[in-house]
Amino acid sequence: QRQHAQAQARTHKTRGSTNLRGNQPVQSSRLPHRDAPPQFSTPLCPPVSPPPGRGDRRRRMAAAGAATPVGAAPRVGLLYDDRMCAHATPDGEKHPENPERLRAIRRKLDAEGVASRCVDMKAKEAKEKYIASVHTPNHIKLIRDISSKEYDYRRNKTARKFNSIYFNEGSSESAFLAAGSVIEVAEKVAAGELSSAIALVRPPGHHAEHNEPMGFCLFNNVAIAANYLLNERPDLGINKILIVDWDVHHGNGTQKMFYSDPRVLFFSVHRFDYGSFYPCEGDASHCFIGEGAGEGYNINVPWEHGKCSDADYVAAWDHVLLPIAEAFDPDIILLSAGFDAAMGDPLGGCCITPDGYALLLTKLLGFAKGRIVMALEGGYNLKSIANSLCACTKVLLGDNFTYNSPRMQPFESTWRVIQMVMVCNVLFLCNFSLAINICN
Ligand SMILES: [Zn+2]
Repeated sequence: QRQHAQAQARTHKTRGSTNLRGNQPVQSSRLPHRDAPPQFSTPLCPPVSPPPGRGDRRRRMAAAGAATPVGAAPRVGLLYDDRMCAHATPDGEKHPENPERLRAIRRKLDAEGVASRCVDMKAKEAKEKYIASVHTPNHIKLIRDISSKEYDYRRNKTARKFNSIYFNEGSSESAFLAAGSVIEVAEKVAAGELSSAIALVRPPGHHAEHNEPMGFCLFNNVAIAANYLLNERPDLGINKILIVDWDVHHGNGTQKMFYSDPRVLFFSVHRFDYGSFYPCEGDASHCFIGEGAGEGYNINVPWEHGKCSDADYVAAWDHVLLPIAEAFDPDIILLSAGFDAAMGDPLGGCCITPDGYALLLTKLLGFAKGRIVMALEGGYNLKSIANSLCACTKVLLGDNFTYNSPRMQPFESTWRVIQMVMVCNVLFLCNFSLAINICN
């Protein structure tokens, strides 16, 4: 299956593309409206709905012994630092991954009175020894030096060697700040100083590989923070990390970094389009489930086409992510929070609403004592990312939220994808003791 997926991806491979745009979405019929999602069965593992009360944050957190007492306002960290706007195209060319993304989000959070309710955090540069947990010395040296004068005359030429990358004089500092910022907020959440946190960082990280920047990403910020918690702060008691990547693109870099590591469960839901959607690699398929000790700890939910909406994502949550999170029982959740599956995004071609993001986030709050760290990844429609992140921030702050949707209609293909994922991961699911409930 893997060979087939890889061969399929190679056919469509478009390495060297200058942006993350995939093919145009194909049409797929929507199922007629149902009051309840259709149930399907596999030989060993029928689908599961989240346990009752899963979305009841206060009750779940109280039961789990959360640090935030019931009734107390959650302490939500918000990290914004204008220095991460220094990374920009060298000659001012238009580019979807630009500094206005951070500023638009910040303006919205200020205008809604949301930022002032959060704990203000400042960015810190990551130490190289922490970045070295996922990147090679050559990669770190390149990103450290790329903004120096010695690169002035070959910076653009160097950027062109990579896939969808630009550099300027501010890139080095921004990259070190982005990585260090996710470490900073993750550490505070893990230590219980904050209930949850949002790191508004750029450049994004989830495409960055061990030895090369890729897809607008220089360092893999979330992967670095995960390794920091596991390796550098054992005193914080973080032994199992769930990384949820809801960016519309596959988190190829993060997947590789934890592919054989059972301490990190990586879940990515993304457009795949049979291997033709960026990054156009076969390893974004559902067949790639991890290897060695990490076998089963890598979950890909690969959409077959665009236009996926709240209903499709909720189905993936209810039938795949939530049962797996229940079984895995993470100590903290790191969210690779790209918003390029949002309605109106110029690259993603999907249509999650701000309320849809809020609902997906609400469903995660019952795990890991509500310890969630959101790190910005993609998302290129300024209005969409600002509205979506604002809705998510309100969820973390504990505001009452009701999702009003009279019609939840996943694509027919969504059920097919979910079924494939369930079959591929059935062994993994059944290895957990809690999964007995799922598999029997
Ligand atoms: Zn993306």
